[in-house]
Amino acid sequence: IKKQAPIPVAMYGGRNAVTMLPGGGIGPELMEYVREVFKYAGAPVDFEVIDIDPMEESSGAFEYAITSIKRNGVAIKGNIETKSETAGSTSRNVALRNELDLFINILHCKSFPNVPARQKDIDVVIIRQNTEGEYAMLEHESVDGVVESMKVVTETNSDRVARYAFEFAKNTGRKKITTIHKANIMKLSDGLFLETSKKIAKLYPEVEHNDMIIDNCCMQLVSKPHQFDVMIMTNLYGSIVSNVVCGLIGGAGILSGRNYGDHYAVFEPGTRNTGTAIAGKNVANPLAMLNASVDMLNHLGHKRHADLIQRAIYKTVSEDQILTPDLGGSAKSTDVVQRVIDHILQADMRPW
Ligand code: ADP
Ligand code: MG
Repeated sequence: IKKQAPIPVAMYGGRNAVTMLPGGGIGPELMEYVREVFKYAGAPVDFEVIDIDPMEESSGAFEYAITSIKRNGVAIKGNIETKSETAGSTSRNVALRNELDLFINILHCKSFPNVPARQKDIDVVIIRQNTEGEYAMLEHESVDGVVESMKVVTETNSDRVARYAFEFAKNTGRKKITTIHKANIMKLSDGLFLETSKKIAKLYPEVEHNDMIIDNCCMQLVSKPHQFDVMIMTNLYGSIVSNVVCGLIGGAGILSGRNYGDHYAVFEPGTRNTGTAIAGKNVANPLAMLNASVDMLNHLGHKRHADLIQRAIYKTVSEDQILTPDLGGSAKSTDVVQRVIDHILQADMRPW
């Protein structure tokens, strides 16, 4: 693997500057919870908040967000709404990942003890190609009633996703990587992704490698999910599989996802939902965004602050069982956040 250049992060007077993109739906309220928790945890982070209006055609705010992330190196984000009624509108979420070349999405799907879920003790890592595949956004109507959509797979990106996954497995003691594909039908595109991963696998004899067709994978995930360890796949399969596994563990409200390129890192809820229907009702589960904020603190090297918040979350959820309705509880979003803050204030491991 090419030596990963250290990802630069902005720091002023011992505090990190981080770009915050609240996005639409429940994004702004979840970000408010993050700021509240960071205040009590004493996390040394200053947020540069940028609101992006989904209705604005050419968005200066979007351009500014890119500039800000390039300057700070790190961002935390909610989902930016895509208004499909705006002609020619492309997803700003996809555009942002492409613009920053965030070619990896990594989702660590680990069950929370004592949270009601369809499957227990899941511990699967999904590594997803994050910038091409079916999300190339190259669609056109060639003649009336005929639409063509291009799925782009490159050797370069397949190669760096596979190398990232095998390095990850080696460094974290993971035993097996499964490449998920549909190379029996999409022989060239998925074929290239699969063949590239097989080639890289040869360089890592200590990590077992196999592959599985996406349709069988979905069935196996629902019936026998414990067979999986690390999975790699192209963009759209990654989105679908991430949602399946999150569903097994407890839904969209819990897990966080990380986006990495060679230069920048962006943290967000794992299944990237807007949550428009539940916005402003004090019912959204704050955990997915709080977990994203813990990932961000770990990335910045603030391990003690990250551990402090992570332990407070664990106690709130797995011990006290303060759960929002999506997890079968009746707690408000703010009840969960308040209990997390209570645990932070009671902890004798506070970093200051
Ligand atoms: P999308 O943005 O992909 O359209 P939605 O916003 O409709 O997805 O979310 C999918 C489902 O997940 C909805 O039922 C939504 O209520 C639920 N959901 C998403 N985020 C959360 C959350 N933080 N807490 C509770 N439920 C959530
Ligand atoms: Mg929605």
